[in-house]
Amino acid sequence: MGDHTDYAEGFALPVAIDLETRVTFRPTRDGRVRVRSAGFESEVDVSADGTVDPAAVDPAWGRLIGGVVRTLAVRGRPAVGIDATVSSTVPTGSGLSSSAALSVSTALALLDAAGWTMPAAELAVACQEAERLGTGVPSGIMDQLASIRGVAGNALLLDCRTLTVEPVPLPSAYAIVVVHSGLPRALAESAYAERHAAATGAAARLGLAALRDATSDQVADDPIARHVVSENERVLATADALLRGDVGALKPLFAASHASLRDDFRVSTPELDLLVELLVELGAVGARLTGAGFGGCVVALVQRNRADDLTAKVARAYSAKTGLEPRAFVVRAVDGAGPA
Ligand code: ADP
Ligand code: MG
Repeated sequence: MGDHTDYAEGFALPVAIDLETRVTFRPTRDGRVRVRSAGFESEVDVSADGTVDPAAVDPAWGRLIGGVVRTLAVRGRPAVGIDATVSSTVPTGSGLSSSAALSVSTALALLDAAGWTMPAAELAVACQEAERLGTGVPSGIMDQLASIRGVAGNALLLDCRTLTVEPVPLPSAYAIVVVHSGLPRALAESAYAERHAAATGAAARLGLAALRDATSDQVADDPIARHVVSENERVLATADALLRGDVGALKPLFAASHASLRDDFRVSTPELDLLVELLVELGAVGARLTGAGFGGCVVALVQRNRADDLTAKVARAYSAKTGLEPRAFVVRAVDGAGPA
């Protein structure tokens, strides 16, 4: 719960899941950071001192690596190089934060190689900055914080202004199901930047530092701002419901969140809407799109003993209606990134 709230300094309630990006590495003596990634043909090779402009790195996926090398160098990491290989089970460009998985795991490898450490919140900010430097997308801090601070069996209540994290236990009788629509995100970067600008502009017109500080009355006539303010309320209500063990209260919160992302913030697609509809119709407690939107994945809460059956039925019905191949994952909430 809580999409497009992080860059408004709001609240979010993500989960670190058991899909992962692994970086296998050894320190080098030549001051170069060399990274190969399974599935991405080319090799990235940048100077470990952060002097290479991240946005100019070729191949493009290496811009995240260049970004991390630079933001860690700026924070004092000694310029020790690494020879590294990346492998990942996180689908890319799908709303499951493969970019944060890559930046955080690479950052941890770079820190380890140099014998350098950094507080978790500062590391998250360095990885967020790396993404902004490398891709130009004004991304928020949710993905990086969740990746670093994940707690097994818990969702994480993030305050994206103070960067504090409160674990919120998930009900053990329920499973989190992720379904990929079979369509990659389209237009994500430009549309994301547009929404970011609209949200920032709305806060400025109200004379506020961020939409975090707006009341629902203040944003009643602005759908973009209305989404952010109502989504912040839903995050807090969801955390409350989880803490009370009140699973019934989650159903309308999921429904309202997806409707708000679809109708007010306008980042859904017909395929994501259909998946949400099918999941709820076939028995999920709730379902909503996850990540930036514009394609990618939906996330649902499902009774654990029904998860496999329900997921298979949803996949069949979705394929029959769209001709697309969805990919479903029954995931677990796990600890955040660290040494294997
Ligand atoms: P998301 O974070 O939702 O998966 P993004 O567009 O933010 O989507 O990030 C996807 C991009 O991150 C990829 O296009 C690629 O550049 C980079 N990336 C993610 N995982 C890997 C990986 N394992 N190896 C190389 N690049 C990766
Ligand atoms: Mg990303």
